[in-house]
Amino acid sequence: MSNLDPIAFSKKLIGTCFARLSSGNVVWKKIAYGGACAGNEPKLKTGFAKMKKLLLLLPLVCLLGCYAGSVKPLLNRPEFKAENEPIRTLRIFLITDDSYRKEEVEKFVSKCSRLVEMQVGIRLEIVDGYQIKWEDELDDIIKMEIRIARDTWSKRDQFDIALTFVHFAFNVAGGKLPLGATDTFFWRYLFVRELDPYILLHELFHALLLQRGHSEEWVMRGGRPAYGNEWYWLTPEDRKGVLRNKWRDFNVMPATGEEEEGKPRESWFYYKVGLAYLKKREFDEAILLLNKSVETNPKYAVAYETRGVICSRRKQYDQAISDFNKALEIDPSLAEAYFNQGRAYYFKNEYDRSWKDIRKAQDLGYKIPAEFLEALRRASGKNE
Ligand SMILES: [Zn+2]
Repeated sequence: MSNLDPIAFSKKLIGTCFARLSSGNVVWKKIAYGGACAGNEPKLKTGFAKMKKLLLLLPLVCLLGCYAGSVKPLLNRPEFKAENEPIRTLRIFLITDDSYRKEEVEKFVSKCSRLVEMQVGIRLEIVDGYQIKWEDELDDIIKMEIRIARDTWSKRDQFDIALTFVHFAFNVAGGKLPLGATDTFFWRYLFVRELDPYILLHELFHALLLQRGHSEEWVMRGGRPAYGNEWYWLTPEDRKGVLRNKWRDFNVMPATGEEEEGKPRESWFYYKVGLAYLKKREFDEAILLLNKSVETNPKYAVAYETRGVICSRRKQYDQAISDFNKALEIDPSLAEAYFNQGRAYYFKNEYDRSWKDIRKAQDLGYKIPAEFLEALRRASGKNE
């Protein structure tokens, strides 16, 4: 696609990628672009009965070789420890709503930090944070990601991971609530629903593996097991993958084998964050993001159009017209861009040009607001 309709594009991103990852009464779903994974708890009745049985079996299972296939038995080996050096400290930007106490979350993060450091030599250190009041984002993981990106954008160089504790209202297929999610643009916006290390570690390792896929067992398995409470360990294979990306720059959108889509995805992300700023009426930031958006994809018509709208609001009509022009060069079917261009000409008192654009917008089926038509008629002395 030469230019991307953001709505169609986001549907494409989200709509096609749910996958059922394991059987039994725990159904795990994967969200391809918006969030790396999501899951739900087992149904109470049957789940509870099975859980009881499994709990009885657990001591026996442990005797037969707990942690086999995970890195846990290797943790104290000198060569394993040596591979974890040097230690990297990840700067965590902590975001909570009012459902958790701050001390509680800090304690939890330091517990997770110890578990991660043992396995891959990465420490988590909270460097900043704030309490969030969600608006209308909670029903959509992409909106949540864009919101967090917007809120933290000006500080993006000062942290590595934005860690948000959230009670999801966003359902995956079947009405299940996710336990956690990771964005798959920058792989740095993490969402965690419960103070369970399995969830934080799972999402964090996604962001270091740069993969949406799951392992058969242990922490990168496609969902929290219905039994046991110590599923915090990587497999040796997954650990290697994490170590490979241990020093990645979280401010760079990584190539993840989706290079072809990479560019449009990047510009789409900037565009959406720009829109989020626009919604907050923070025009300077919005313009910066839209600049980045068209830098990464110079064929992104709606990004030019949106920038033009902001220029218009700032009464910079020449710049606005230049942006509308670019947008229309790329996509001549953007009726709204004709309308906006016509409006800009109106404010420049160039009524003939204004009429020309307004007619084009109408031809394309755009409904011109009656007040504007009235104002243009009066100003131009024409009654079209
Ligand atoms: Zn996952």
